[in-house]
Formats: sequence, C-alpha cells, structure tokens
Amino acid sequence: LFQERIYNFGAGPAMLPNEVMEIAAAEFLNYKGSGMSVMEVSHREPLFEDVIKKAEILLRELLDLGDDYSVAFFSGGATLHFSALPLNLLKEGESFDIAHTGIWTKKAWEEGLKFNGVNVIHDATENHFTDTPVLTDANLSGKGKYLHITSNNTIYGSQYPELPKIKQVPLVADMTSELLSRKINVKDFGVIFAGAQKNIGPSGLSLAIIRNDLLGISGRKIPVLLDYSVMVKNQSLYNTPSTYSIYIAKLVFEWLLKLGGIEAIEKVNEQKANLIYDFIDSSSLYMCPVQKRSRSKMNVVFLLKDKNLDSKFLDEAEKNGLHGLGGHRLVGGFRASIYNSMPLAGVQKLVSFMKEFEFKT
Ligand code: PLP
Repeated sequence: LFQERIYNFGAGPAMLPNEVMEIAAAEFLNYKGSGMSVMEVSHREPLFEDVIKKAEILLRELLDLGDDYSVAFFSGGATLHFSALPLNLLKEGESFDIAHTGIWTKKAWEEGLKFNGVNVIHDATENHFTDTPVLTDANLSGKGKYLHITSNNTIYGSQYPELPKIKQVPLVADMTSELLSRKINVKDFGVIFAGAQKNIGPSGLSLAIIRNDLLGISGRKIPVLLDYSVMVKNQSLYNTPSTYSIYIAKLVFEWLLKLGGIEAIEKVNEQKANLIYDFIDSSSLYMCPVQKRSRSKMNVVFLLKDKNLDSKFLDEAEKNGLHGLGGHRLVGGFRASIYNSMPLAGVQKLVSFMKEFEFKT
C-alpha cells in the first residue's frame, strides 16, 4: 500500500509521514484492543482523554513550553483565530497592529475590522510580497494593543528569517505553515496559532498557544467556541473536539520527537530548502521571485522564465509522481511545499526532475 504513495508538494492539506500513516492504518479499526476506531470513541472516555492529554504533553515537550502558556485545540482551522484574536485580546474600541505580508494577513486584517480597529504598520504590497520586514518596537503604531504577523507566507513563499522581538505589546503569530519546522522562542510571543494541515495533521483542526496573562482580558461576550479562556479551562473538551484529527496530531508529535525534535527536523528542512534554492539560482530556466533573505524554508515559490512551458512542466511532474506543484490560484507559477513530512528524497527527486526538464528544453 505504502509503495504507491507519491510525493505531494501541495500546500495543504499536505502529506503526512508514512510512519504516522502506517500506525494510523494499523490502528484504524481497533484502537488499543478496544474494538473501535479512535473516531468511534467518546471524547469523555479515558481512552480518548489519554490521547488529547498526551498530544498536549508532546507539543509542550517539542516547543519547550512553560507553565505560563496554555494550549488549546480548536475545530475550525486557522481562520477561526482571525475572529477569535480581537475578541479575546481587545476591548471594544481598541485596535491591533498588523504587518501585511500576504493573503493571510489581509484576511486577518479584514476580519479584525469587523470587531476592532486595525493599524497596518507595514505593507508589502509595493514589493509584491517578495520580502518580509525587520520589525522592532519602533515600527509599532503606538495605538495597537498587539501586533499580528504571519511568520511564513504560504502563498508567496516568504518567511521572516528572524522572528521579531517586540517588547511593548504582545506579538501574535500565525504560524500555520511553519510551526514545528524550526526552533522558536515561544517566550517572544503572546499567542501562536496554527491550522493543522501542514506540519501537524488533518485540516479543520487548529491549535493556539496562549500566554496565560492574556486569557480573559477583553471582558467581552465571545462566541463560546472562540473563547480562549473557555477552551483552556475545559482542556479543549468544552464540546466534542475533532477527536480523530487530534489523534493524528499526537502521532505526528510522537514521530517528530522520535526523530530528535525540532532541532533535528530543522537541519533536514534547511538541507531540503538549500538544495532546491541553490539549484533554482544556478539554472537559466527557473527563477525564484522572493528576496533571498526572506525565502521560505517551507513553501518554495518559483517561475519558469519561459511561460509557454508551464503546463508541460506540471504534466510531466505529475507523470513522475511529483504532485501538487502548481502555484496558488491567485499567484500562478509553481510552489513546492516542503513541510516536515516531505523527505529529503522527495526534494532530491524534484530537483533531478527539474534539471532533466531544463536539459531537455
Ligand atoms: N494562515 C496561513 C499562513 C495559511 O497558510 C492558511 C491556510 O493555508 C490559513 C491561515 C488558513 O487556514 P485554514 O484554512 O485552516 O483556516
């Protein structure tokens, strides 16, 4: 079965490690001798409570989270936090700052405006989203109560090479397409959130890591499933959570710890990214529009200098078992998403294919 799996370079839902899928397949119908699939187990039974507790413990271990941070799992994806953040962190009439670096900050900005004011402190529209800013306290508006950034811009393929250190207000980071891929200092953040479908597990699940002093500060009426305090207090079991997705996330966390944790995967991720960017820079057919310092280690965006070859390139890639290389519908070109689960061998195969394609044309 697993021999037939291909390399999926899609941006998400993305491929998951074969080792994880093998365990999930083996346990699919009969989880730990219960005669039930995990998805058939009540979220109130010890069998599942154990899964969600372990998932949090493993995530805490991976990120070296202290007691001053809470973790909660949500159903509803990363987008849910675009609504949840202002409601949880701001009183009516207050505003937040945002550094606009791509489509996901635009969406957070638009959603934020429904509830509060938004101060755009950096706008990468002028450079066509090919770079990320160096942000310090000096960039803050002075009015915003927190700063929202997208640390890795999935669609444009740009990433903050160094994450900002902001002291005057809490830093809130959408890390959907990079969480667990490189070492971060959680203490630099007020809230980190991520949709699961890149480095964590199935889509529809998201998680948030919230500094405890930020819980309950808005005093607003918040829809219950968006209320960070309620979710934390109930250990993500206020209602029926996405049980099967949380189970897969737990398996992914176990896999990552077994590999040696974030330090180990970061090395592989750098190797993968260097391999592909170095090749692109040396080629006369391919080019990467993103500034070198901000090139994403997760989403490699590239173009063919001869656009007439675009569909041929995609067709031949598919025939070679290299799937999902088309760029985002709003941007075009190509994108190789090389999240934690993409093995080095997948990137080596892609680069060999690209070389051969260039040689032939
Ligand atoms: N933020 C980033 C950086 C993303 O890449 C995505 C989706 O790919 C989202 C937010 C939205 O996630 P979701 O579809 O889970 O709401």
